[in-house]
Amino acid sequence: MKKKRILSGMQPTGQLHLGNYFGALKNWVELQDEFECFYFIADWHALTSLYESPSKIKNYVFEVAVDWLSSGLDPEKCTLFIQSEVPQHAELHLMLSMMVPVPWLERNPTYKEKQDEVKNVDMSSYGFLGYPVLQTADIVLYKANYVPVGIDQAPHLELSREIVRRFHNLYKKKVFIEPAAKISDIPKLNGIDGRKMSKSYDNAIYLSDTEKQVTKKVKSMFTDPQRKMREDPGDPDVCNLFPFHKIYSPKSMQEEIDRDCRTAAIGCGDCKNKLAETMLSGMRPHMEKRREYLNKPKEVYEILAEGRKRACQVAERTLEEAKSVMDKTK
Ligand code: SF4
Repeated sequence: MKKKRILSGMQPTGQLHLGNYFGALKNWVELQDEFECFYFIADWHALTSLYESPSKIKNYVFEVAVDWLSSGLDPEKCTLFIQSEVPQHAELHLMLSMMVPVPWLERNPTYKEKQDEVKNVDMSSYGFLGYPVLQTADIVLYKANYVPVGIDQAPHLELSREIVRRFHNLYKKKVFIEPAAKISDIPKLNGIDGRKMSKSYDNAIYLSDTEKQVTKKVKSMFTDPQRKMREDPGDPDVCNLFPFHKIYSPKSMQEEIDRDCRTAAIGCGDCKNKLAETMLSGMRPHMEKRREYLNKPKEVYEILAEGRKRACQVAERTLEEAKSVMDKTK
């Protein structure tokens, strides 16, 4: 039976961090066995925030590809490519832009949220307002059945579905597939300061960090704010550090910390030392593979070139179909 198709992308706006890994990448690796997956490095989307320094994007593209491969994305199982190397994304984006009403874009909650989050760049551009249209083109070009998202991001897909319906209503033929959300359970991980883990907040633990950097960051992590003194009991349920133990530490250690924190039998310093150890042993395999891929840039770029070929074939077929139904409309 033909596998259902998945499409997803990541912006090369910086190094990837644990939030990116547990929020998306880990799930992508699992999906590649069951679905036909297309994963792209969204360098045109990255331009919405890096338009003043576009040369940075190229470097990040390579870093993202290295992190993808080191995390276990397998080019034999999925198609990995760079968005700007498949020009059909831009062409379909332009075509769809002509039929999407501006108020649809203005009511997009992410538009406002991102403007509040990114302080150092003027995000009031025409391109940023229209990014959901480009995102729709990205998805529908591959006739993707699903887009993997966390439960809180599911509504974001609704706009893409509306755009697809508008196209089908206007030209009376179904060319695209209305993408559905593939919801996955994403652990809630904050940055070391307790806010959402983000490059913009400078609070992330990166997949590219050295062991020394990871240890330093773990030791500076924000914990239970009520636990002011060593003698004060803590509450792992509100502690910023404990979710990382849930990912990296063995169950027996989690239970021990949960119990000892509540009676102040363990201090936050010891708890952090334990986490630094388990986190590093969890991250080491990725760190080793990362070092290997960094030394083989030719191989990384060949994988992306092969992915481009496969992506272009599919994208071109869909684009031609879309043009042809528009041409036939009186
Ligand atoms: S002991 Fe650990 S879980 Fe408890 S508050 Fe300190 S860092 Fe958090």
